[in-house]
Amino acid sequence: MYEKWLADRTQWFDASGIRKVFDLASKLKNPVNLSIGQPDFDAPDSAKQAAIEAISSKKNGYTPTQGAAALRTLLQKQVDDQYGPGVRETFVSSGTSGSLFLALMTLVNPGDEVIIFDPFFVMYDALVRMLGAKPVYVSTYPDFHIDVNKVEAAITDKTKLIILNSPANPTGTIASEQVCRDLAELADRKQIALISDEIYKFFCYDGEFASPAKFSKNVIVLDGYSKCYGVPGWRLGFAHGPSEIIQQMLKFQQYTFVCAPSALQYGIIAALDTDMEPLLNAYRRKRDLVYDGLKDHFEIVKSEGAFYSFPKAPTPSAAEFVNKAILERELLVIPGNVFSSQDSHFRISFAASDETIAKGVEILVDMVKK
Ligand code: PMP
Repeated sequence: MYEKWLADRTQWFDASGIRKVFDLASKLKNPVNLSIGQPDFDAPDSAKQAAIEAISSKKNGYTPTQGAAALRTLLQKQVDDQYGPGVRETFVSSGTSGSLFLALMTLVNPGDEVIIFDPFFVMYDALVRMLGAKPVYVSTYPDFHIDVNKVEAAITDKTKLIILNSPANPTGTIASEQVCRDLAELADRKQIALISDEIYKFFCYDGEFASPAKFSKNVIVLDGYSKCYGVPGWRLGFAHGPSEIIQQMLKFQQYTFVCAPSALQYGIIAALDTDMEPLLNAYRRKRDLVYDGLKDHFEIVKSEGAFYSFPKAPTPSAAEFVNKAILERELLVIPGNVFSSQDSHFRISFAASDETIAKGVEILVDMVKK
């Protein structure tokens, strides 16, 4: 009976790929877990205290749709300092996932084409399909860097939007300043929207972070606090972009999320003063542990950012290799076909203790040798 109740859009995307991994994982007693998409460090104490304080002092009501005034003011100032006053409007969202949903609701019509880079963050593909639009993949294999000529070649008269994610999940690559400039200029020339998902911008190990927003006022930036302050469960993110777009996103926020979690917005204000540099250094070392440990045994691109590495499996099917790793060696990694039209690579998350990373690397190397 329920089948008849279900809206058509429930059939347009599925979550089976990642669920299969979780099902397999649930059978393991003590897995070496390199699958997790959140930092292994906790929120700064100052942030926790400020959130507790906010709850105790009755900051438990709704905030304005665009965020608690104290946080929104700081955020707007940060963005104004970087991009100039009056150029970009900001608001606080329920995570970057929240602002991504709002942005797509605002921009995408059924039948539109949305360019995403393959491999991609799973949510892009699912949300685009959920809205009845078509994801158009531009491959970044084998080195995972973006070729803007390929993007231009993929544009049709149905293309509405390009979604950039740098540093990237699942590949750990960073778009250079030149690529950001070329993409922003291409989008402007073709009058296509460009979303820049910058949630991993704190995690840049070798060079500076670049944003296409530096080159065009039209770019819609989505960002969040989950990863850089170790608070993914707080569901706090933000967006900035042209006022006309942001106002429409706020309209959707008003009737869906209503506002971001109230007390936690006060927690984040305290977090903004924390020096996170030592954690960045720790994550650079974790990146090195993975790369140095695997480079002689796997085809692997050195991650430049985020906390993922995306090596090629030594067998024709990465999914089979990952199944074997999980079932025979209790090593949890994610098969690349969850993030891609290709089943050739797998994702390692190095958001784990150094000890867990070392164990995982040892297992992978041992599997290749056998
Ligand atoms: N974008 C990317 C690329 C991500 O990897 C994630 C989290 N895995 C998000 C957005 C969403 O993050 P959040 O909703 O926690 O801010």
